[in-house]
Amino acid sequence: MCGTMKAIVKKKSAYGAALMEMPIPEIKNHEVLIQVKATSICGTDVHIYNWDDWAKGRVKAPCIFGHEFTGEVVKVGKQVSRAKAGDFVSAETHVVCNQCYMCLTGQQHLCSETKILGVDIDGCFAEYVKVPEQNVWHNPAQMPVELASIQEPLGNAVHTVLHTPVSGKSVAIFGCGPIGLMAIAVAKASGAVQVFAVDKNEYRLDLARKMGADHIVDIGKR
Ligand SMILES: [Zn+2]
Ligand SMILES: [Zn+2]
Repeated sequence: MCGTMKAIVKKKSAYGAALMEMPIPEIKNHEVLIQVKATSICGTDVHIYNWDDWAKGRVKAPCIFGHEFTGEVVKVGKQVSRAKAGDFVSAETHVVCNQCYMCLTGQQHLCSETKILGVDIDGCFAEYVKVPEQNVWHNPAQMPVELASIQEPLGNAVHTVLHTPVSGKSVAIFGCGPIGLMAIAVAKASGAVQVFAVDKNEYRLDLARKMGADHIVDIGKR
C-alpha cells in the first residue's frame, strides 16, 4: 500500500504536536499493517506532548506517537502466518530484537534492544501503523473498540498483579490511575480476599470503589 495518511506527529523537539500527512508505513516480511480504529492516550503520550525531561532524553523528533490502539489488519508481510487481512487486533507495544540472551531465553520483556511503539519508533496516532507479527493480539469480534484499545495497559495490570499469587490474600493497590483501577478488578478476579485502594484523588477513589475495591484509603485526608 502506498500513499499518505493523517498522523499526529511530534514534529519538533518542543511542546505540542502537529497533524500532518505522513507516508503510510511500508511493511517488511515479518510485519503487518493495521488500519487504526481506536486509540487511547497514555501518560507517556502526555509526557511526549508536554516535552518534559523524560521525553527530551528519549524521543527523537520527528516521530508519530501513540501506542495504545486497536484496528484491522489490512496487509501482511510474506513470512506472516498468524495474521491475515480483516483480523481485529490490538498490539503488544514493545518491539524486541529476538536475538539477545534475554530474548532467546523467553525473557523478551528484559531485551535491552527494546523499541517502544510511539516512543522509539512510529506509533499509532495515525490512520495506519505497522508492527511485527509477534506483537499482534487477536480480539474477540464482539469486543467494543474502546475496550480493545486499552488491552496494552490492561496487560500491564495483569502482569503486575499476577507477579505474585494473590488468591486468598489481602492486596493493597497504591495509585488509582487507569492501570491501578484495572489492577483492582484483576486482583478480585484472581481470588484476592480483600483489596485496599490507596490514592488522594476522590474521583479516582470513587472509581476504585466501582471497580470492586473493598476498602478505600484516602491519603489526602491524613
Ligand atoms: Zn502506555
Ligand atoms: Zn532482545
